[in-house]
Amino acid sequence: MNAYLSRVIGEVKTKYANEPEFVQTVEEVLTSLEPVIEKHPEYENADLLGRMVEPERMFTFRVCWMADDGSWHTNTGWRCQFNGAIGPYKGGLRFQKDVNPSIIKFLGFEQTFKNSLTGLPIGGGKGGADFDPAGKSDAEIMRFCQSYMQALYRYIGPDIDVPAGDMGVGAREIGYLYGEYRRLKGTFENGVLTGKGLSYGGSRIRPEATGYGAVYYLENVLKHENEVIADKTIACAGFGNVTWGICKKAAELGAKVVTLSGPDGYIYDPDGVTTPEKINYLLEMRSSGRNRVQDYSEKFGVEFFPKEKPWGVKVDICMPSAMQNDVHLEHAEKIVKAGVKYYIEVANMPTTNEALKFLMDSDGVIVAPSKAVNAGGVATSALEMAQNSERLVWSEEQVDAQLRQIMNTIYAMSVEAAEKYGLGYNLVAGANIAGFQRVADAMMAQGVF
Ligand code: GLU
Repeated sequence: MNAYLSRVIGEVKTKYANEPEFVQTVEEVLTSLEPVIEKHPEYENADLLGRMVEPERMFTFRVCWMADDGSWHTNTGWRCQFNGAIGPYKGGLRFQKDVNPSIIKFLGFEQTFKNSLTGLPIGGGKGGADFDPAGKSDAEIMRFCQSYMQALYRYIGPDIDVPAGDMGVGAREIGYLYGEYRRLKGTFENGVLTGKGLSYGGSRIRPEATGYGAVYYLENVLKHENEVIADKTIACAGFGNVTWGICKKAAELGAKVVTLSGPDGYIYDPDGVTTPEKINYLLEMRSSGRNRVQDYSEKFGVEFFPKEKPWGVKVDICMPSAMQNDVHLEHAEKIVKAGVKYYIEVANMPTTNEALKFLMDSDGVIVAPSKAVNAGGVATSALEMAQNSERLVWSEEQVDAQLRQIMNTIYAMSVEAAEKYGLGYNLVAGANIAGFQRVADAMMAQGVF
């Protein structure tokens, strides 16, 4: 391997030995950049890679909140402003009990490349808290969000850092966060957050965007194989916002999502999650806070597999859309054995590096990486920022057309980048290279700091 590249990876492995998710993503991304680094010896002198793997800054803060019974609780909040070379830091907030600095940093690093791929002026950031929203009342969520924003508001802004939703943070949380920001700042700077409700500056299609974008990207992959999406069966994981968007768009295009999963297991619905009743039920399951997919099997009389994952079910397409490291080598082996042709990552880093390599090396399996596939969400957030700064609201058709265009371009850029460096049809390396190039150019142009 290129000496500079392997030195940077080695340093990250030693320095961040206690941050396994972060090390994993750095290793995956940097390894695929080898042909680019070979061609650009000037990057080493400017220590471009060493600077890229170090966040520009990262905050840790205390978040205290009062439960309904009057007791006080303390959580930890984080915001990582990973890379601002091409635009204000941009990325979601994740509220989940096992969130830690390694997870926030891996997400921030991925976000930098993803946001670059969108072609829009957004840098990479991520944040969150080790707060468990499950079972919390609405008033508790509101107090938590208000306290969270009290700690964060000085460090964000429409031209500084623009947080959004991620797991555990949806439109309701964004509403409370924005309300508190507005109260503290005394200005209507709604470009400070995205994923807002329509009544105060949200964008049409933003709730659907990640799922829709993933399906638009998938259509490009299918087209390359002279196939169409109609009649395809899809295995999804999770039942959150992203999976909901995939179900909706897939159903509209005549395909069907046949599996959903949760921490309790997975369901198999041979007729597909295709009717409005079933699709809307996903929203109900999420807002119930029960975090169980078994509810779906009880409601619609389909099979439930407790404590199992849907990897190995016979489908045309797998779309892991739940969380990081959901698919391990043993699952990847089952996926290949089941004859799945398309492995389309959706959640951030859903595949272990070992499993990813196995899938990419398997004959007849096409692998697409999450940073490209799920970029439609953050891209639509950037469109929301544009609408906010213009003080305009775009129509559903306008936003959807731009989203589709962006996804087509991400796909085309990835294909082109891999080909340019002699890697053939490699969507994973292509996305890393294309995302890297824009950030690298901006960092080289702006001098060393
Ligand atoms: N959390 C989403 C992501 O991983 C959306 C971020 C955003 O809209 O800023 O890309």
